[in-house]
Amino acid sequence: MPKERKRSSSQGRKRRSVADAHGIRLHFLGAARAVTGSLHFFEVNWEKESFSFFLDCGGVQESSERNPARKVQKRLPLDYGSTEDFTVQNPTGKASRKAIKALPSEFAWGKVAFGVVSHSHFDHVGDVPYAHKNGFTGPVFATPAAVALSRIQLPDSGYLQEQAAKKQTKRNERRCDEVQENGVVVKGCDEDEINVVPRYTEAEAIASLALFRTVDYDQSFKVRDGVTIKFTHASHLLGAAVVTLELGKGASKRRIVFSGDIGPPNMPILKELAPVKHADYLILEGTYGTDVHPQGNRQALVADVLKRAVERAMKYDPVTGYGVIVVAAFAFGRLQSFLYDLKQIGFDLPVFVDSPMAIKASEVYRRYTELYNPKAAKLLTSGGDLFSPKIFAELPNWQDSVKLDEPAKKPIMILGSSGMAVGGRIVRHLEARLGVANNTAMFLGYQAHGTLGRHLTTPGITEAKIYGQIVPVRATIEHLHVYSGHADCQHKLRWMRGFEAPPRKTFLVHGDEEKLLAFQEMIQRELGWDVEVPRFRQSFELE
Ligand SMILES: [Zn+2]
Repeated sequence: MPKERKRSSSQGRKRRSVADAHGIRLHFLGAARAVTGSLHFFEVNWEKESFSFFLDCGGVQESSERNPARKVQKRLPLDYGSTEDFTVQNPTGKASRKAIKALPSEFAWGKVAFGVVSHSHFDHVGDVPYAHKNGFTGPVFATPAAVALSRIQLPDSGYLQEQAAKKQTKRNERRCDEVQENGVVVKGCDEDEINVVPRYTEAEAIASLALFRTVDYDQSFKVRDGVTIKFTHASHLLGAAVVTLELGKGASKRRIVFSGDIGPPNMPILKELAPVKHADYLILEGTYGTDVHPQGNRQALVADVLKRAVERAMKYDPVTGYGVIVVAAFAFGRLQSFLYDLKQIGFDLPVFVDSPMAIKASEVYRRYTELYNPKAAKLLTSGGDLFSPKIFAELPNWQDSVKLDEPAKKPIMILGSSGMAVGGRIVRHLEARLGVANNTAMFLGYQAHGTLGRHLTTPGITEAKIYGQIVPVRATIEHLHVYSGHADCQHKLRWMRGFEAPPRKTFLVHGDEEKLLAFQEMIQRELGWDVEVPRFRQSFELE
């Protein structure tokens, strides 16, 4: 059984070498009792060689209260050894020096040999440019579709971070300007306090794309002597994979399976989650904890909601024209699933996709037809493009987008990202349409705390603050939960029952603490497996 490193024993004594046992130490450095920032770091110390690598390198999206990795941007600091910033990094808020000892010694991104990424969602791949910026130059392995989507995701993320840093710098300037002494306005802050540096820029993100290497599904790929990886279908997002990692040789070989994010049964377009038979160690996502997804026919439910939205939209308003259905959807996956359903349902209002990133992502979805499930593959041979409803246009240009602000001469639908309406053109469309009763705003899936999407999907709200202005909400708000990309506990338990023997240990990650603890209890009860819910920065020897 793996042993957690005894932090208290490290001070003043020779630290136990990771060359003991089989020489594999796994550090949980993100999405540990939290949802985002997936980062699992391996130190391998064999007789003749030592190296380290990461499984996922995701960006942190939650606030620091919910995700300790957020508290300092440097989760794996280059200045390892300085204790200062660890006092805030330690999630317990207690002694920092002991926690430090649990980190890889002499860590530097430049020493990390390689990385593996399960899929292209920001919280799994979004920190690769940061690692590269700080010296990491090793290859990053992912499936071809995951690499294609990362090529869209990462530069966009760099751009957004630059914009956010500029905005914050301006805010800081204003704040510092307001400090007065004897009635005279003085700068109250140092330059360092004012200038916000983005975690990485668009240019830095583009530079990191050169690190990506593709590995096809269902192939054992030798990364280096004693290390192979295999990707199998995860049914979560195009290109998403469950990663099977084999470390070592002969009797000391260990198989570690990382679920990445795994999807529910009957995901639109994608192949089903592939079974796994054996793992010595399993790292499993627990996003939904013990929740069970409602059953029912997705397309029938969506058709019903759309029918009511169309009825509203047919009513003419003399000032704003016919009704508009504004749909906020994540650019990767959910928007394509929705388009796919619109086509299947036979939705016949004009549909405009107003998001350059979503348009690029749809291109990737169109390209990787070999990843489609049998139903989608069959539709492709008989019906042409799966993501183009009857009357359909993609609007990459701003000028075309602005034209949609005019009073609608007929009912239309506008689809945009972001899925929680935190930025982009969708916010403008919501601002323009929320005040009129013949419009509908639709949100597809989970809405995080503090987002406009969360506010608008809160029952009973009558107004919203957009770009600093109060906007009345008279439009109907629809919140659809049927596009979840995550399996519920029942589907996960079924998948786990397919294992021929229980793993030595299962680590639950990628979920709020209470969800993971409830799921831990459920797995122990239902399967009798040994399950751990690692804390941020906790590490384990994999024996
Ligand atoms: Zn994901």
